[in-house]
Amino acid sequence: MSTLRFKVVNEAFKKKAVEIAAPAKFTSDYYGKYVFTKSVMAKYLSKDVLKSITNAVEKGATLDRKIADDVAAGMKMWATELGATHYTHWFQPLTDGTAEKHDSFIDYAAGPGEAIVEEFSGKLLAQQEPDASSFPSGGIRSTFEARGYTAWDPSSPAFIVDDTLCIPTIFVSYTGELLDLKAPLLKSLNAVDKAAVAVCQLFDANVRKVYAYLGWEQEYFLVDEGLYAARPDLLLTGRTLMGHESAKNQQLEDHYFGAIPSRVAAYMKDLEFEGYKYGIPLKTRHNEVAPNQFELAPIFGEVNLAVDQNLLIMSIMKRVARRHGFRVLLHEKPFAGINGSGKHNNWSLGTDTGVGLLTPGKTPEENLLFVTFLVSILKALYKNNALLKASIMTAQNAHRLGANEAPPAIISAFLGTQLTTILNKLENSTSEEAITVDDRKNLSLGIAHIPEVLLDNTDRNRTSPFAFTGNRFEFRAVGSSANCSSAMIALNSIVAAQLLEFKAEVDEKITKGLTKEKAIFDVIRQYIKDSKAIRFDGNGYSDEWKVEAAKRGLDCETSVPLIYDAYTTKESVALFGKLGVFSEKELHARNEVKWETYTKKIQIEARVLGDLAVNHVIPVATRYQSILLDNVYKISKLYDGKKAEELSAIDRQIIEEIALHINTIKSNVDKLVEARKVANKIEGEKEKALAYHDDVLPYFDTIRYHIDKLELIVDDELWTLPKYRELLFIR
Ligand code: ADP
Ligand code: MG
Repeated sequence: MSTLRFKVVNEAFKKKAVEIAAPAKFTSDYYGKYVFTKSVMAKYLSKDVLKSITNAVEKGATLDRKIADDVAAGMKMWATELGATHYTHWFQPLTDGTAEKHDSFIDYAAGPGEAIVEEFSGKLLAQQEPDASSFPSGGIRSTFEARGYTAWDPSSPAFIVDDTLCIPTIFVSYTGELLDLKAPLLKSLNAVDKAAVAVCQLFDANVRKVYAYLGWEQEYFLVDEGLYAARPDLLLTGRTLMGHESAKNQQLEDHYFGAIPSRVAAYMKDLEFEGYKYGIPLKTRHNEVAPNQFELAPIFGEVNLAVDQNLLIMSIMKRVARRHGFRVLLHEKPFAGINGSGKHNNWSLGTDTGVGLLTPGKTPEENLLFVTFLVSILKALYKNNALLKASIMTAQNAHRLGANEAPPAIISAFLGTQLTTILNKLENSTSEEAITVDDRKNLSLGIAHIPEVLLDNTDRNRTSPFAFTGNRFEFRAVGSSANCSSAMIALNSIVAAQLLEFKAEVDEKITKGLTKEKAIFDVIRQYIKDSKAIRFDGNGYSDEWKVEAAKRGLDCETSVPLIYDAYTTKESVALFGKLGVFSEKELHARNEVKWETYTKKIQIEARVLGDLAVNHVIPVATRYQSILLDNVYKISKLYDGKKAEELSAIDRQIIEEIALHINTIKSNVDKLVEARKVANKIEGEKEKALAYHDDVLPYFDTIRYHIDKLELIVDDELWTLPKYRELLFIR
């Protein structure tokens, strides 16, 4: 009998919801309590200092040392009042998640052996030198020149976790190469701001700044902690490498938006209370489609801050889950056969004059602006669909894309029927008939009325990776465990490059004598034609679409290591280089890191799979087989000849089936190990990753298939690994 499995199942059943009390009567009473927000700054910093910070954030002005000292002093006072004794630069290396190294505030007051004081200077705030040699850098920083430094990002507020003041920072090598995800994100935001402002000024000279906004929807699974601990695959890889489908899973769709189970409800409440303390405007919580799958979403905000908040909430989610006897699974595909988890990135642009650039307007002029941005984005997407896909592709996400409600691994854009009609109409109209100046000197483009109903009526095409949803695009291919920055860097950059081109093309036409309106209209029409191939409103799962997408020239590559090549094409290198987001060297280095990460993930999974197959599954199957053999033997002792044969027929059949599965499992595990050995000897990260993809990964499915078959045959009492029905339905 499998003692651990039944023990944890038994315990899980007995767990009750943890009682959670709100920190205060009103959320607003403690919202942002642990964040050094503008209003907190106003209390701890002088007016001049505050102004300098605002300037730095809004206009990118540099902060001098004196200001940094003053900010540091204010920050320290605030932090120590809240019990902080340490500080850390909180940064986002090229791994999943964030990194931090805590230093205490203490320092000698005068010299060694003397009394200590609590110190925190502008120098410490502005820059730190973590021993960064063991963070991935793709060879940019070989270990002997290990130094990298972190530098304060004043545009994302500091916050306190436990006893530590966390300062959001970028992470750069001493030779200036970017080693993280935040620094290029900030550069891409700057690029899209500049480019979008240039385009906006064709319409309104008052626009000075364009913000990019992000609202992420975080999907996740919760699994009881005991059951989780009894699944080495979940523990070590974040996903189940085996497990037969539960008889009931999501077919009835009775989980989606259903009543939230009480233990989970307590978790969600607790999580929200924690999130609010960190100024994360959590708005939505609900059950997702798959059993034990849930979603959490805040109100959208400026991209840089939204990314930091998402990273913070992911770590809070893990921490809070343990208080409730759960483990949170952020993996993109923890369970085969049911939905995976994504992180829809709702993205839009808006001006400092309050105009949402992806919001259809009320006047023809506003709509011209809207269409300008819409078609520029479509064209950027069309030209760079491979790059955008590369930005979200990982070993984990590859399991999710293309199945169970996740978008396919081909990037296309969904506009819905209304917008499609409008673009088609525009495309086929001549500027003469489309642009008429009415008596109020407004231009009419035949797009005067983009119906407001659009906002609520956007068809929900769940298979589209990039869907227009009324006032934003929803990039749905992003994975649940990802740092949103990767997707946001790519998106901001391709859109920035396209907007710059748009502006240049319009300017050129104006110099040739066209009116501004005609010039804009001509370019828009051209863009609609150019980008048609990216628009697809149909079923992204259909085989016809795969054929059609290839015909349209969209990137259909499915091999993860090859997908990353999109970052280093001539076009991508030129695009990122021109915008100053990445140098060619950085792009190559980042790909090295991606390939290495890919290899390591598959390598770990392969080891765990081999271990579970050989040390858990086969022994259990053999034990059951031996029970059956024993039975057959006893039957043969009691009955003779034909009768014995008849009575033991089923047993003998199962014995043979087990032997067949065991043999196939073992021989494939052997081949898997062999393939891994060969792959490990390969020099070159890309080649190694390819070997893991082409030669190692294919064994996973075969091995799993036979293990899952055994799960159906072997006595339930003997099976050691918690089954899907237990992982998915106990809460
Ligand atoms: P759904 O599940 O219907 O797609 P949700 O309400 O779960 O929608 O999430 C939508 C997300 O999009 C929220 O974070 C919301 O704040 C965000 N959002 C809404 N409008 C915009 C916008 N203009 N720009 C960026 N994000 C937006
Ligand atoms: Mg959504």
